[in-house]
Amino acid sequence: MHSSRKGSDVLVIGGGIIGLATAWRAARRGLRTALADPAPGGGAARVAAGMLAAVTELHYGEETLLGLNLASAARYPEFAAELADASGGMDIGYRACGTLAVALDADDRLHLRELHALQRRCGLESEWLTGRECRRLEPMLAPGVRGGLRVDGDHQVDPRRLAAALLAACERTGVEICRSRAERLLVDGDRAAGAVLDDGTELRAGQTVLAGGSLSGRLAGVPQEVLPPVRPVKGQVLRLTVPAAYGPFLSRTVRAVVRGSHVYLVPRENGELVVGATSEELGWDTTVTAGGVYELLRDAHELVPGITELPLTETLAGLRPGSPDNAPLLGPTALPGLHLATGHYRNGVLLTPLTGDAMADLLATGTLPDIALPFSPSRFSAARQEAYA
Ligand SMILES: Cc1cc2nc3c(=O)[nH]c(=O)nc-3n(C[C@H](O)[C@H](O)[C@H](O)COP(=O)(O)OP(=O)(O)OC[C@H]3O[C@@H](n4cnc5c(N)ncnc54)[C@H](O)[C@@H]3O)c2cc1C
Repeated sequence: MHSSRKGSDVLVIGGGIIGLATAWRAARRGLRTALADPAPGGGAARVAAGMLAAVTELHYGEETLLGLNLASAARYPEFAAELADASGGMDIGYRACGTLAVALDADDRLHLRELHALQRRCGLESEWLTGRECRRLEPMLAPGVRGGLRVDGDHQVDPRRLAAALLAACERTGVEICRSRAERLLVDGDRAAGAVLDDGTELRAGQTVLAGGSLSGRLAGVPQEVLPPVRPVKGQVLRLTVPAAYGPFLSRTVRAVVRGSHVYLVPRENGELVVGATSEELGWDTTVTAGGVYELLRDAHELVPGITELPLTETLAGLRPGSPDNAPLLGPTALPGLHLATGHYRNGVLLTPLTGDAMADLLATGTLPDIALPFSPSRFSAARQEAYA
């Protein structure tokens, strides 16, 4: 049976950190906002490590994305304070601790030297250290560490606490949270008009934002040419605990490429140590495998041998919303009234403050801020049209 509800100015489909930040910031601008998600505050943030790694995650060809990442990183301290206020005092675990990226063998060292050169060309702050200097900073590092990059600007946040605080902020700012799945986009004539939920409820809205993470390409009713080209990229992660009696273990994020795979250790102030992450193109599978856990432990152990003494408290796999160019899709689509905020891939936690603000600007004024313009979904429609020409 279909029932109707009063309409709102904005409907956000998806209550991961990206949808929640968008809804919160839109509501703060005075827009009547609803959000639909069967499990708001869950999603990839339950798994993510929470590195704010604009500098250490720099890749060739991603210099435009770097600008967006740096801008979002710069907003974090103020964003965390505003969120604490809006959520009734919740702390998101923002920790300005910096990052050390190290090399264990000659190949890794070469890779790191190249990254350092790229960082320097992009005007980023990063300092080359010898193995001994690395161990002076982090005494738990393996004696075999051959050198590393000290990046004092790459910090961290706790994504679970971020998601919980965003949900609380939404509720306290008046966002209507509907704990149901959007089954189908509503389209009136040539305009998106909200969504039909799986219980038959129609949520009507003047503007609809699709923020469904890796599921964003699967919403029924979205015209084919508008569907975002996002795909799930599986990541397995381990959580260990550093007992209080153990004393200092790591004081900052430590990461490396070990025989071609990325491994990182993110120490939280509460003693949690996150070890991640695999990167697997396996569709919707979220199984934690013996092989995944083995590889993470093996590589992390080569970096920091002492981890084998720590209790292993959790193993989990999640899905990053990958896009064809590893950058997010932000802004209006060719279907009037439908906007996208998705495809944040491995930087969704980092990009949460900027995405929330950019989407709220768009929803309130009809215009995306300049910094977000290169990430318009139209860059893929143009590519599609060329492919068919
Ligand atoms: C292993 C791993 C490590 C990571 N580490 C980092 C890191 O260190 N730093 C960083 O910046 N990023 C990291 N990320 C990436 C980051 O977690 C993601 O980019 C980000 O969480 C994506 O958020 P999202 O809200 O777009 O999507 P999601 O978190 O996937 O949320 C989407 C939400 O939409 C809902 N939804 C989907 N379809 C519908 C529908 N039809 N109706 C209603 N609701 C719907 C889902 O229920 C879900 O709650 C990591 C990710 C993984 C998996």
